[in-house]
Amino acid sequence: MTVIHKAAKDWKVDPNFVDYEGTRRGFDWSSAPDVCAGMGPGACNIAYAAVDRHQDGPAASRTALRFVSALDTDGAVATRDMSYGELGRLTRQFTNVLRSLAIGRGDRVFTLMGRTPELYISIMGALRNGSVVSPLFSAFGPEPIATRLSIGECDVLITTKAIFRKKLAKIRDQLTSVRHILVVDDTVDNDAARGTLNFWHLMDKADDNAPIEPTTADDPALLHFTSGTTGTPKGALHVHGAVQMHYLTGLYALDLHPEDIYWCTADPGWVTGMSYGVISPLLHGVTSIVDEAEFDATRWYTILQSQGVSVWYTAPTAIRMLIKAGPELAAQFTFPHLRFIASVGEPLNAEAVWWGQRVLGLPIHDNWWQTETGGIMIANTPAFDIKPGSMGRPLPGIDACVVRHRDDGSVSVIDEPDVEGELALKLGWPSMFREYLHQEDRYRKCFTDGLYLTGDLVKRDSDGYFWFVGRADDVIKSAGHLIGPFEVENALTDHPAVAEAAVIGKPDPTVGEVVKAFVTLKDGFSADDELRLDVLGHARKHLGAAVAPKEIEFVDSLPHTRSGKIMRRLLKARELGLPEGDISTVETMAETHAPAVSS
Ligand code: AMP
Repeated sequence: MTVIHKAAKDWKVDPNFVDYEGTRRGFDWSSAPDVCAGMGPGACNIAYAAVDRHQDGPAASRTALRFVSALDTDGAVATRDMSYGELGRLTRQFTNVLRSLAIGRGDRVFTLMGRTPELYISIMGALRNGSVVSPLFSAFGPEPIATRLSIGECDVLITTKAIFRKKLAKIRDQLTSVRHILVVDDTVDNDAARGTLNFWHLMDKADDNAPIEPTTADDPALLHFTSGTTGTPKGALHVHGAVQMHYLTGLYALDLHPEDIYWCTADPGWVTGMSYGVISPLLHGVTSIVDEAEFDATRWYTILQSQGVSVWYTAPTAIRMLIKAGPELAAQFTFPHLRFIASVGEPLNAEAVWWGQRVLGLPIHDNWWQTETGGIMIANTPAFDIKPGSMGRPLPGIDACVVRHRDDGSVSVIDEPDVEGELALKLGWPSMFREYLHQEDRYRKCFTDGLYLTGDLVKRDSDGYFWFVGRADDVIKSAGHLIGPFEVENALTDHPAVAEAAVIGKPDPTVGEVVKAFVTLKDGFSADDELRLDVLGHARKHLGAAVAPKEIEFVDSLPHTRSGKIMRRLLKARELGLPEGDISTVETMAETHAPAVSS
């Protein structure tokens, strides 16, 4: 096993976390830093710690957010800076906008837009108001949007003109809970025909004196949607107390120092983009780079270099896309300010870790967490050796173990190293999700014996490093996005030609997995390329490109268990040429082994 050793002589600044055993041993959540202390006893609000707290301090005039819009043809970068002071003022104004619309504590405010200033103002303004914020990924199609707005009982939706026209206008009647839709880039005033309000007109009328809602650590703050194998998406509810975790992990796992120029490439429509692209950097008073555009290798290298990014938090798919773009491109840039790179969301292959070392001058530090945990749990951090391919070790305040399931439904902890089992976390950290909205049973099933069961299969080695093995369920990770097969199958079976659909993640060297669908057709339809394109187009239109299948294979029949469930695992095993495992419960083997009609 090759290890990347760390030594103090390589540190550009002293890391925040240098004594692994000692810090963990002496750690106690009740005496961890309280970033909401200034709000008064018992009060806690994420926006207080992220924005209000800085208004009279040294960060007030510092740039909080640097928005990178266009790149000139000569490679110059066009940016707009927003200071902590300005963010504070706009945030308070937005709190008043919500109050003028009678939106208050506990009401749900959804965002559906790109990474523009209005997104950050809306998130912080709504949190200050005590409202619950749910960010949606702007590349979702109308179906995932409608499902989430309905499960989350959205009261206010903030979006753009283009998104409204393309994705919302047709489904507006279905969005029965939505009281107001605010459009951030409208030129007209409130549009009665559309039923929308002009964000900036409301902002202009609002003053910037808005006392913060005195929420507590147990009040709901954020609603993030995640996917399971079956059923509708799960709305994981998080509380304001999670801010303690966002702060500490920014300190320990991302090693943030106030003078950092920090870039988290994740979109705030996903949990990483919210916790570590919005909240954590603001808590630490650093300057965040916000790229308004999508991935482009030249653009990303240009941003890293021209902005002097010092801490970079990105994703394995992005790293692999940079690797694909070739060493010649990377060689045109230098990164003298870069001092720490971390990545999350999907397995980071050892080669990608080494590529960082060779090409960027720093290894990539993998870390692990998920929507439900609300913050980073297991990580490689600057001061400690990396075993490339491993996710690292649990952070202070986090106890992780590997468990095996017993037949009676309980679990036992596996003490021996290098044995595969499910990753479980001992309850007690502050950013743990508090419910799956309206799905009490699903929520309860995540816990046993004081442990949270993550659904991930891992091994722990004798040095305490965790290694990802795979998911215990059928959810798909594509380009870092968690995709529920059921949601995709539902959209496919809405197509008039489709009888049944089963969706799997097919391994892909760049994006981890691509969504592949196996589809049976209704009588009278023929499995040809024209129909395949039509079904693909239908899926993209309804689900959005990030979720829709990339590949469709027409088959005569799908394998089912005797109880009628589609056996996605069997389809996956066949796709990969792997052993099919126990197939004693497959309904009709003759049928299910029928060859594909076309592929
Ligand atoms: P999400 O809730 O969308 O953030 O997805 C969480 C899931 O992503 C985890 O349960 C894992 O399956 C996967 N994941 C996150 N980080 C890693 C990592 N470092 N290595 C492997 N898989 C990861």
